[in-house]
Amino acid sequence: MAKQNITVKRTISNNWFLLKIALQEAPLYTVEQLTTRARHRLIVFIEHIYMIGYIIDSIQYRRPFAEVFWFVLTVFAFVTLIAQVLPNYVETRLKPLSREKIRRRIRMELYRKAAEMDLKNYDDPNYYNEFVWAMGEAAQRTDSVIGTFANFIGEIAGILVMAGYVLSQDVFGLALTAVSVCLLLVLSNLYNKYRLAFQEKLKPLERKRDYIGRVFYLPEYAKELRMSHVRPKLQEEFEEASGQMRRIAQKETRRLWILKLCIRYGCDTLLFEGVYLICLMFQTIVREAFGYGTAVTLYNSCGSLKSCSGSLAEVLTEFPEHGRYIEKIRHFLECPVEICQREDAEAVQDAFDGIDLHNVSFSYPGGGQVLQNVNLTIRKGERIALVGYNGAGKTTLVKLLMRLYDVTEGKITRNGKDIRELKLDEYRGQFATLFQDYQLFAATLGENIVMDRKPIEEQKAQPLLGKSGFDRKFAALPKGYDTPLTREFDEDGVSFSGGEAQMVGICRSLYQDSPVIVLDEPSSALDPLSEYNLNHTMTNLSRDKTVIFISHRLSTTRLADRIYMLEEGQVVESGSHSELMELNGKYAAMFRLQMEKYR
Ligand code: ADP
Repeated sequence: MAKQNITVKRTISNNWFLLKIALQEAPLYTVEQLTTRARHRLIVFIEHIYMIGYIIDSIQYRRPFAEVFWFVLTVFAFVTLIAQVLPNYVETRLKPLSREKIRRRIRMELYRKAAEMDLKNYDDPNYYNEFVWAMGEAAQRTDSVIGTFANFIGEIAGILVMAGYVLSQDVFGLALTAVSVCLLLVLSNLYNKYRLAFQEKLKPLERKRDYIGRVFYLPEYAKELRMSHVRPKLQEEFEEASGQMRRIAQKETRRLWILKLCIRYGCDTLLFEGVYLICLMFQTIVREAFGYGTAVTLYNSCGSLKSCSGSLAEVLTEFPEHGRYIEKIRHFLECPVEICQREDAEAVQDAFDGIDLHNVSFSYPGGGQVLQNVNLTIRKGERIALVGYNGAGKTTLVKLLMRLYDVTEGKITRNGKDIRELKLDEYRGQFATLFQDYQLFAATLGENIVMDRKPIEEQKAQPLLGKSGFDRKFAALPKGYDTPLTREFDEDGVSFSGGEAQMVGICRSLYQDSPVIVLDEPSSALDPLSEYNLNHTMTNLSRDKTVIFISHRLSTTRLADRIYMLEEGQVVESGSHSELMELNGKYAAMFRLQMEKYR
């Protein structure tokens, strides 16, 4: 994914965006997770650092046994509670339920957006990739964000506790640790920079070697490889790339090795373990400034302080990374929906009377004009055919009719009212569709016909089964309308042939109480006779409905009351089949051409 730079404010806001969802959905779990690291750091300090020092000091200064005993017991009880009992409860009880809640909320937000987003976004590969990616990434990213916040809080808490303790005992120790940490951060930064540069230099060579590798093992190349003289040349290139990689590695790794040496032995061994340990021993043994236990506690606290600071530096790099990913999720979620309902939209209540296109022009985003100045009329009960060569704009016109896109110029009216002033769902509900690429869903047959949460009304569906020709197949299904379609979730699921699936599609479109049926080349996979039969069936079955069908096979257009012939986005002819044949224009020419083909 290409790196995009976002501001610090936006980075914080993005990380907070996901954390807020987690806090809203599962507050107890999220707060527990956020404090995990802090509790861990606290336990390390109390149990492994402070208590050890306390015991050693107790031996040195002969504290009463009962006092030491109660101290140790209290520490163990506290540690058991927050390091064993609480996490155990959270891991086994709280986590599964809470994670599910958070994931559900995020998915629902994404699905809601996916269902309402403009269809044009599917045409934009960048947006579409972002959408697919956001779907896969969002839930998992929330876990990572909680983890990062938890580490951030934990390391800060660790630093405060350790630094507070060291400061109260030994200011010099704190100063030395600070110097060691700063050096460590600067050198580590440099090391990472060089390591990345090293990897970048290797990348093109690795790509080249991978490509040559693929040529040797992929079957597509097997014949060429044997029949041509390309092999020695590829081997030579492979050797050359390997040689270059070796030379780069020789040069770059020297620098990395020296830096690592400075980090490990300069900052750690020499400055901290060497200088500080000697100073501490001098203070304790010679000047008797500290008890033995306090010296041990101080040394360990400084070590822990160093480790907290290192981890904090790492954690801080995670926020921008999350920020960049969450930016994409938010971009997807916050992208405005253009085709939406106006606040004062009117309900679609009156009986369907007709649709009119008034001087409609349309272009896809970033594309040229697809429809120009189209005027057409569709009246109640009419059979309308849209014909024209591929790319003429038929499908686009139907998409505009259903308000999947909005017109660029002109307007579309239903019963004289601009469709942009109507309630979107109710307006779309006026259409039942049978698309070329209609889909059956992994649900029961009944649900696939009803396409709603309501149960199927068998009395309404039964005649449709017969008319669509699906009745014989239906009789052979023991579970009838409850037959699960597809094997996605059910091993007994039934897979239908293309023709059978199409019959279900027909039943679905006729079952809807929509006054208009749109058939967008649902028959393009069929031979001309079957296509004729399908369109004939559809037009007969839906006598009381308006039918709009797109077909590039003109035999079926004889069934239409009116044909609109489109060419380069314009209506060039309109009329009934016989009228257009008489006109002897473009439609007639196209019709004759097709007839000759099938003769
Ligand atoms: P038809 O249905 O008559 O074959 P279409 O309406 O599918 O024609 O396409 C009309 C024109 O619009 C074609 O030039 C096509 O390339 C273009 N087009 C179709 N869909 C899109 C889209 N989603 N984005 C950009 N251009 C498109």
